Formats: sequence, structure tokens, C-alpha cells
Amino acid sequence: MNFRSRALRRLTVLLTLAVSCVSMPSARAQAHAVSGQAVYKLTQEYLAAAPKRYIGSPGHTAAEGFIKQHFKPEAAKGNLITDNFSAHTPIGQLSMTNYIVKFPGKKDGIIVLATHYETNYPLKDINFFGANDGACTTALLIALGQYYREHPPQGYSVWLVFDDGEEAIKEWSSSDSLYGTRHLAAKWSGDGTISHIKAFIVADMIGWKSMNITKESNSTPWLLDLLAKSGKDTGHVSYLFRDSQAIEDDHLPFKQRSVPVLDIIDYQYGTSQDPEAFHHTEKDTIDKISPASLQVSADLFLDVVKLIDQH
Ligand SMILES: [Zn+2]
Repeated sequence: MNFRSRALRRLTVLLTLAVSCVSMPSARAQAHAVSGQAVYKLTQEYLAAAPKRYIGSPGHTAAEGFIKQHFKPEAAKGNLITDNFSAHTPIGQLSMTNYIVKFPGKKDGIIVLATHYETNYPLKDINFFGANDGACTTALLIALGQYYREHPPQGYSVWLVFDDGEEAIKEWSSSDSLYGTRHLAAKWSGDGTISHIKAFIVADMIGWKSMNITKESNSTPWLLDLLAKSGKDTGHVSYLFRDSQAIEDDHLPFKQRSVPVLDIIDYQYGTSQDPEAFHHTEKDTIDKISPASLQVSADLFLDVVKLIDQH
């Protein structure tokens, strides 16, 4: 993902920090449908199986294997779709693959939950593992899938999208980024699927220990309202909306086609001196991730899906 501008972002941070009040974590007891600890463990397993996952690498193939291996029951039902495509990039044509896992619901309409699963290509020659940037959200979606396998959606269908090529191959631009979701939005426009999508929700960088989810202003206002309500429902309001920012992420190709979208992201990933210290660096490692933050993320995702069903 990409920020509109670093200077503007810092100004936004200062302004929002100035006006935000200190909120205390809720003490409300929770029965968690998806365990943050389990998502954390899956993140560790994913990183062990596929530490570096840039396109074309053995780790990328291992990452694909990891995802597929967790959806064998859905594959047996024809509900795991492999979406291969060729993308025109600054270094030539590259083969990429999205995976879509379908959990059919009871009423017409689809809620899509998406994350990118690959790591940043320009960082292929350093030890970039993307524990927060790609790995923990892949684990989160796998865990949500395990939940929907046991508890089939009673409202809209829930589709998981593990998309490829979110990151720029050379340098972020509208043509060098979001390859997987741009391909999918075009494909689903062509075959009519897109008209059934009630919401396209992105998970990105939401495992960081000090997570606070951005009020992401490219997201659709009514979905941001539902996320705020979810914060109250789940007792996680203190993890939400300390700052506001427009972020370019996997939701944009769907927003451009008038699908309601929500990017659930914490773009500040670093220290108070340098809020970007861990983003796209060798420091994006498992020790920055916490089961507690993944618990918040899992609770919010499940609740937002429930609220969209009721909307
Ligand atoms: Zn990234």
C-alpha cells in the first residue's frame, strides 16, 4: 500500500494526535470465535514455510502451497478458485496468481475479505519477511476461513481473496501496484460477479503490537461507520481511528467500479520518532506482532461481516 504523501501524513498524524483523547482498553470479557493466539501461530507457520514470498521465488510457491493446503475441504467442493494471470510490469510480463475461497451463504450477495500474500519485490535482496505486511493477514484470513467452514454464513456469502502483486514491482504508481486486485476487478466486471459484491474489505498490516486502525478515507463512509460500531460491539474502540489518512491499497480497483470498500489497515508501523521504521524494512518480523492485536482484528472482521448482513 501507499500513502498519499509522507509530509501530509506526518501533518495528519500531528493533527489527529493533538485532537484525539486517550482511550482505555475495554475490560469487557469476550468469547472469541477466532483466537488471536491461533492466528499468531498460523503467522509463525506461514513465515516458517515461506519466509520470503516475492513473485517468482521458491518462497512464493511455498506460500501458495500453504494457502491451498489449508483449504482442502473447499477445494474438494470446487470452492477454491485458482486465478492465474499474466501481468505487464516494469520488468516484463510476470505470472501471478490470486486464490479465492468461497463460503456460500443463504442470501444473494457476497462479502469479500481480501489480503495480499506476497512480499515486496524490490526488497527481494534483503531479509524482508513481511510479518505484518502480508503474513499475519494471510493467517487471519485462513483462520476466518476455518471459522466459516464450521459456521457457514447465514447471510451473504463470504469469499476470501488471497491476492498477488499488491506491491509495486519497481516503484509504486497506478500502473505498478495492485496487480491482483486490478485483474480481479476487471474479471469480475466482465462476468457480472461484481454486481453481487456488497462489500470488499481489505486486511493489511493489522498484527502490529501497538496497532491502531486508521480511519482510511478512500473507504466507503457507511462501512467506516460499521467498523466504528464494531469497535463498540467488540470492546475494541481504543484500537480504532486515532488518525485518518487516504491510503492506496487493494480496495481501490473495486472502489473505482463503485463497489463499497473498506481498508482495515494500520499504516503507522514503527516508533514514535519514526512511525514508518518497520514498514518495508528487515525489521518487519514476528516479534512486532502480537496475539492481542490479531484478536482485535479477528473480532472486528467477524463483527463487520455480521453488521453488513444486518445492514
Ligand atoms: Zn508492503
